Parts: sequence; structure tokens; C-alpha cells
Amino acid sequence: MSIRAKALRYLRNERVRVVSAATPAGELRPHEVTAYVQGHAERHTVRFAAGVWSCTCLNGGCGYVASVQLVTGWQGAASLLPDRPPA
Ligand SMILES: [Zn+2]
Repeated sequence: MSIRAKALRYLRNERVRVVSAATPAGELRPHEVTAYVQGHAERHTVRFAAGVWSCTCLNGGCGYVASVQLVTGWQGAASLLPDRPPA
């Protein structure tokens, strides 16, 4: 299963919960994010800070990070289109 398919599945199954997102004035996406994503066995914490995404699953390019990127406007492994501003 592709990372995009995994990320969309987490979103579709309501496994993604953004608990904090800070967006600087005039920006269109947050520069600081904390989110929880419920995996099969455990809940993972996804964070975005200082331009770096991290996840407690410790896997590079995981579907948890990708799902949070999709709902916060950041280009990532699950992105379908080149980066563009919201319509
Ligand atoms: Zn992860």
C-alpha cells in the first residue's frame, strides 16, 4: 500500500486528530503542529517544528506524518499535486 493510500485511510477512518497548530499571521499553513494518529496498535504523535517533521513511530516517510501533512497544507509523501496555495 502506498504512503498516500495509508494516509488517506487514516483520514477516512477518523484516526487523525490535530491537537495544536500555530500559523503565523498572513501564512496559509501552520509552522508548528502537534497531532495524534491512531495506528493499529498504538497512538503515534506527529510533530512539526523548526521545519522538521517527526513521529514517534520513528519510521522515515511514514503514513502518520503524511496524513497530517495532507490536512495542514504541507507537501509530503502523500501529496498528489505539486505544491500550490489553497484555492
Ligand atoms: Zn511515523
